[in-house]
Amino acid sequence: MNHAPRSSLVGRRTVCSRLLAAALLPALAACTKKKEELRCDDTIGMNPDDANARKLLVYVDKSPEPAKSCANCALYKPGAPDACGGCAALKGPINPAGYCKSWAAKPA
Ligand code: SF4
Repeated sequence: MNHAPRSSLVGRRTVCSRLLAAALLPALAACTKKKEELRCDDTIGMNPDDANARKLLVYVDKSPEPAKSCANCALYKPGAPDACGGCAALKGPINPAGYCKSWAAKPA
């Protein structure tokens, strides 16, 4: 029986583990990649008055008020999952995590 020297076995294990790591790292990175944040602040192509109304009501894509966001506002019109929705007060795309000065609590 032909036995490989111990140092050769260790070398093969090291090479194999490095190859495995090299093959798995991109997959692992893809799995752990943070989900891209939804952006709903593009006003390109909007009527200037409608775009300005967003500025006047200080619409932001991320609410500064932890308990208040478009998702729990009475005026929010949900979109598809993971997509921008709409609003009864403002035109254009609205982020469920967004906020503006017209926030109103949903009726209980
Ligand atoms: Fe969001 Fe303001 Fe519209 Fe309410 S009124 S859904 S807080 S943009």
